[in-house]
Amino acid sequence: APVVELRGAGKSYGNIRALHGVDLAVRPGRVTCVLGDNGAGKSTLIKIISGLHRHTEGELLVDGVPVRFGSPREALDLGIATVYQDLATVPLMPVWRNFFLGSETTRGRWPLRRLDIEGMKRTADRELRSMGIVLDDLEQPVGTLSGGQRQCVAIARAVHFGARVLILDEPTAALGVKQSGVVLKYIAAARERGLGVVFITHNPHHAYLVGDHFSVLRLGTLELAADRAEVTLQE
Ligand code: ADP
Ligand code: ADP
Repeated sequence: APVVELRGAGKSYGNIRALHGVDLAVRPGRVTCVLGDNGAGKSTLIKIISGLHRHTEGELLVDGVPVRFGSPREALDLGIATVYQDLATVPLMPVWRNFFLGSETTRGRWPLRRLDIEGMKRTADRELRSMGIVLDDLEQPVGTLSGGQRQCVAIARAVHFGARVLILDEPTAALGVKQSGVVLKYIAAARERGLGVVFITHNPHHAYLVGDHFSVLRLGTLELAADRAEVTLQE
């Protein structure tokens, strides 16, 4: 069964219809690629699933239950994590600290807690390694990592904090061939761990390398929705 599903979903911004009548299923252990030119509605689609925008037509279901998200927090609480292109990492902070950014909870009367720094470093190191990301120094500022490595840190972080669905917004758009390969490897690793991945891209080659399902948007509607066995990539 799909974790997340759109049924005839759409969104209008005032009288601009950005997305219309879209069906999409996100299943565990599968990579769903969403392709389309600029303006096709890709961002609008992920904003609906990630809780940033509300759909204005159709349904969004999580575990078969219709939902209307009021904020990204609500999506995150249901295990839907989004890694945006402008990563929510703080460049000058060490890698291990970024890994836990936003995850701290404070209890008690004073909003100050002692961090278990060694424990945090061990956990970050273990999670990054389990995704095949080996960094020699977790103390280095995250800003010194390559774009591909930063994507991978953000993905590993989402996995660690219990994401079931990972939404990746053009994760390879700003990267070269080698770095893109690294990111595609982590997308495969996330799939192996049973996550449902939504991979937004305008690069059909990248999609074809890791995709199990392909949805192509054009002018806000689905032009193509097909499983891997049903498509071919024309050079
Ligand atoms: P993509 O991510 O594929 O480039 P978008 O979802 O950003 O596509 O945009 C789909 C359409 O909706 C475009 O015509 C765009 O101009 C329009 N649009 C997107 N966001 C807004 C907005 N907040 N207000 C008005 N129109 C928008
Ligand atoms: P909701 O949280 O209900 O999904 P949105 O955040 O999508 O609402 O935006 C609410 C309204 O604000 C939209 O209907 C649209 O008309 C307007 N709006 C939002 N972003 C833009 C934008 N970038 N350009 C023009 N209008 C926008």
